[in-house]
Amino acid sequence: MNGTEVFQLNNIGDFEYFNIPAFDLAGNGNVITFFSTRNGGISEGIYSSLNLGIKKQDDIEKVEKNYEILCHKFNFNIDSLAFSDQIHKDNVLKVDCSHAGFPLHEQKIYDTDALITNERELPLVTYYADCVPLYFFDPVNEAIGLAHAGWRGTMMRIGPKVVNRMVEEFGTNPNELLVAIGPSIGLCCYEVGQEVYDLFLNEFKKYKNWFTVKNNGRYSLDLKTCNRFQLEDAGVNLHNIYISNFCTSCNEHHFYSYRRDKGKTGLHCAIIMLC
Ligand SMILES: [Zn+2]
Repeated sequence: MNGTEVFQLNNIGDFEYFNIPAFDLAGNGNVITFFSTRNGGISEGIYSSLNLGIKKQDDIEKVEKNYEILCHKFNFNIDSLAFSDQIHKDNVLKVDCSHAGFPLHEQKIYDTDALITNERELPLVTYYADCVPLYFFDPVNEAIGLAHAGWRGTMMRIGPKVVNRMVEEFGTNPNELLVAIGPSIGLCCYEVGQEVYDLFLNEFKKYKNWFTVKNNGRYSLDLKTCNRFQLEDAGVNLHNIYISNFCTSCNEHHFYSYRRDKGKTGLHCAIIMLC
């Protein structure tokens, strides 16, 4: 928020990843947070190298190997993670260990962009290449969530929908909930046309300042801020919202970017798990 980066580059041996120190602190060792970099895997060319996108055109054996590399570092069993199946909608699924399964072995979850759980040792996984990762942690009731918010998910208010579902399922008090808005495309690089501008303005009349007008008549959209305002409206305390400054498009060394690479790119994953 004030220039300090809330996602910290961390490493296990030579394997680099980002985590969220604020969640670690609040969880007192009971929560693991993870956002992958594009480095440390075996994919090649446009997918180089830690491509975690199962539905990409990359060699799926390499993608599976990339997951094995990641899982090995964290002592996860590849079949014990719960994977989203993202379709740019607003479905929120409460998951338990019966939903765990690596999709290339057995797909257990369909048409779901957001996952929540209070089960321990059940890592939740979602995918990204510019869209906004939303991480949720209720340290009081020990529950977590993860959501994929592109412009469509943001327009459908997927963040507040996760908050409301956590209130229903776990008795979460939004005021005590921690939320992190992860590395994603920034206002600097996210250009949209009149159609998206009109849709957003129609949906969120009071938030014109999410956009800046460009010289070419198009608009820059600040998706991170859209999500932040929605979360505040849903009762999340501003001081508990941690926003990454990283723009995926600007930081080619660490990140894939769908916009920057014109769709020819790999995917990151976000993981959160209660220990
Ligand atoms: Zn940028």
